[in-house]
Amino acid sequence: MSDSTVIDSVVPLSEAEVRRIRDDFPILATAVNGHPLAYLDSGATSQRPRAVLDAERAFATTLNAAVHRGAHTLAAEATEVFEDARRSLARFVGADEDEIVWTSNATEAINLVAYSLSNASLGRGGAAAARLRLGEGDEIVTTEMEHHANLIPWQELAARTGATLRVVPLDDEGALRLDEALRLIGDRTRIVAVTHVSNVLGVVNPVEQIVARAREVGALVLLDACQSAPHLPLDVRALDVDFAVLSGHKMLGPSGIGALYGRRDLLEIMPPFLTGGSMITTVTTTTAEYMPPPQRFEAGTQRVSQAVALAAAVDYLTEIGMPRIAAHEAALGSRLLDGLRAIDGVRVLGGGIALPRVGLASFDVAGIHSHDVGQFLDDRGIAVRVGHHCAQPLHRRLGVTSSTRASTYLYTIEAEVDAVLDGVAAAIDFFGARA
Ligand code: PLP
Repeated sequence: MSDSTVIDSVVPLSEAEVRRIRDDFPILATAVNGHPLAYLDSGATSQRPRAVLDAERAFATTLNAAVHRGAHTLAAEATEVFEDARRSLARFVGADEDEIVWTSNATEAINLVAYSLSNASLGRGGAAAARLRLGEGDEIVTTEMEHHANLIPWQELAARTGATLRVVPLDDEGALRLDEALRLIGDRTRIVAVTHVSNVLGVVNPVEQIVARAREVGALVLLDACQSAPHLPLDVRALDVDFAVLSGHKMLGPSGIGALYGRRDLLEIMPPFLTGGSMITTVTTTTAEYMPPPQRFEAGTQRVSQAVALAAAVDYLTEIGMPRIAAHEAALGSRLLDGLRAIDGVRVLGGGIALPRVGLASFDVAGIHSHDVGQFLDDRGIAVRVGHHCAQPLHRRLGVTSSTRASTYLYTIEAEVDAVLDGVAAAIDFFGARA
């Protein structure tokens, strides 16, 4: 949960602590284009500490086996660490272990929910799943600021079921129109899909109010926690959401692993998304009985080493403390935002929104394409993201086709933020773009 009062009262990480943390990340000691790497692209994918790299390797070298199959010792031990990993992630987000479904990433987790609802709408899941059916007259609510991963699956669900997609607009600054959200969520709304933290603006959305409105009308809420779970204390029960999704590679874990949190009573009635081995109890040539959740949603051979490594990542984050990480990043985020806003010709997308933020800002530099900004910074060893960040509607609403995004993490130091600021100012001089 993004409780700013909690974060305000904690002591941010000291410079010395961050230096020690950096020593855990081998890649941060490397050079790029002759400069020490300044990695400001953790919003896209984060770097991994030795504890995570070692956990994945240790699994592969001593325990590798398929889980929930096989009676041999390695298979049993692999199953045990796989389920331990599920427990670790459940603790990290405030859920019970059987409410965590492993997926490849957040994108798959959102598609899992959308396809499951779609299957329920086709009558799959029987009477138990009837209350999940969508059809004409029903509405799905999402927002104009979503990552495409939390937009297209709902467009597709609407197209398959005849439901209508309603999109909460943004104001001219890029903030969610909360008044419109509360108006659009009504008696016809069946599910509300909203991002906790924008991957472009870095603002923490007031999801509590959206959830409260959804509760009033009996709609489900799916929270895209991709940009919050890595950076803020997250408690899915305190937020009272029905589903939450995250990606391991954004929170110090490996790629290829993500998770869906789903409220137990919902997972229990949801028909499966992917089908096949490992998710069944009895199969005939024409029928199949499915396992209870979470296994019902984990068809096929699982990503065990990735799950084990993600558990090492959440242990690492927990040990340092999410409130302290959030405080560290809030300070870096302010430095980044203030610095960018002080540069003539730079427009920070959503820079004027008065909401708590993580350490992430996207900006447009007048007269210079974001790819040129990105390449100029890269020549100095600075890694940032350029493009539309999988959020074309948001960029369109703000009148730009692309932007440059700098994003921090627990291992980011002030000098790296300053390097971005100096680099942007130098790019403006280099390209002769100063007004
Ligand atoms: N949602 C948000 C807010 C994101 O930032 C991202 C990734 O950038 C995603 C969803 C999709 O994550 P993945 O590509 O790991 O599935």
